[in-house]
Amino acid sequence: MVKIFTAKKFYFLILIVLLLPFQPAQAQDSTGPIYIVQPGDSLSSIASRFNVSLNDLLAANGITDPNQLTAGQQLTIPGLEGVTGILNTRFINFGDSYRSLIRQTQVSEDLFKRLNRVVSPSEFYVGVNMIIPEQGENQNQKRISPNTGESLLELAVKNNIDVWTLADINHLQGSWDGLPNDTLFAPGESSGESTSGLPSAFISAEIRDLPIKQGGTGVIQVTTQPDVTLGGLLVDHPLNFFLNDDGTQVALQGVHALLEPGVYPLRLDATLPDGSKQSYEQLILIISGNYPEDPILFVDPATIDPASTEPELQELVNITLPSTTTKYWNGGFISPAIAYAESTYFTSRFGNRRTYIGQGNGLTINGFHTGLDFGGGDGLAITSPAAGVVVYTGAWTVRGNATVIDHGWGVYSGFWHQSAIQVNVGDFVEQNQVIGLVGGTGRVTGAHLHWELWVNGVQVDPLDWLIQAYP
Ligand SMILES: [Zn+2]
Repeated sequence: MVKIFTAKKFYFLILIVLLLPFQPAQAQDSTGPIYIVQPGDSLSSIASRFNVSLNDLLAANGITDPNQLTAGQQLTIPGLEGVTGILNTRFINFGDSYRSLIRQTQVSEDLFKRLNRVVSPSEFYVGVNMIIPEQGENQNQKRISPNTGESLLELAVKNNIDVWTLADINHLQGSWDGLPNDTLFAPGESSGESTSGLPSAFISAEIRDLPIKQGGTGVIQVTTQPDVTLGGLLVDHPLNFFLNDDGTQVALQGVHALLEPGVYPLRLDATLPDGSKQSYEQLILIISGNYPEDPILFVDPATIDPASTEPELQELVNITLPSTTTKYWNGGFISPAIAYAESTYFTSRFGNRRTYIGQGNGLTINGFHTGLDFGGGDGLAITSPAAGVVVYTGAWTVRGNATVIDHGWGVYSGFWHQSAIQVNVGDFVEQNQVIGLVGGTGRVTGAHLHWELWVNGVQVDPLDWLIQAYP
């Protein structure tokens, strides 16, 4: 009896739900601004970003199923009276300052703070995503940088506009508060070249693929005045710059997979031909790589004994430390398992948090997976993912039969656990050339290829290098 009663009650509830007024996917409220959903957004992250309640956001858009959100979808943002049009997102790049962005976009400071919940200019990090109303983006403006000591009047004359227009566009109180080395905007086509806030030795600086994740590769691309030598620092790694084909100077720098997400310094140091120096430093946001936890691995205790792991790691660090000024690779890297495996046949990805326990002695070490593992067994051909010079071959306790290839510019590939090494130190190898065979030597639970990539002294996610070309 009880069961029947419950079932009846259940059907009754369904009936009530069906009889409730159905809320149609209504036309969007035309009074609020539109936000275009970005990959990785959720309704709750969007609600919290604009400081509105999730319910208000759902109601304003007639959304009944919060799980149905797709990138590119247009959402009306309620509670932003007086704001219309599309809200764009933009990553803050190196050299962007709070002042320069306000000026460039012609958005009022109040509105900018309201949209981004920014309390002070100090919250302005490289890699932070800011929201800017599209109508505020003025396409017909160019950046102009006054020289030290130059007055606003001189600048106006030089750019063929009147001083009052220049003051107005840049929200200056009068013609007198232009700052040395500050960036101003003038009517005209944007050259897209000069970056704000940077000292005069720099023409522009761009950090690619912001924000950088743990285990990511930072690409710092700088255009300078002629004969300027560059150095710098990302987190705590000194940067090595190389001359790119397009005349820019480029530094590639890995970010450690275990680095705590947060803000870290990025500094550029310029040495001018006369020996004088200029530096610029800004904080950069490093985000989580969202790496999962692997199941605990039980291995031969000898392979996790610090007495053997530490000297081996130190040897590898020393091998991958020099920055060869020749860039041997060209374009994208290709999978070293391309000869036998689907390009997506990975048995373990980079960054996974790992715990190893020694069989028999219980010795435990914590770390992360430093490379990309490919499925496939003993004897399959390993090919070089890019051209380079072989700088190490040998048998290691943890890594087994190992080969290290120098691709130049501080980029190195390591191939572990091989059953056979088929190259010698000093050999130049072409992309896709066979360099060895898959095996199960060293600290493994079965035969597989482990490929890892070092960028200026730090292991990075090799998958990034298969997906896109660097620099
Ligand atoms: Zn591996």
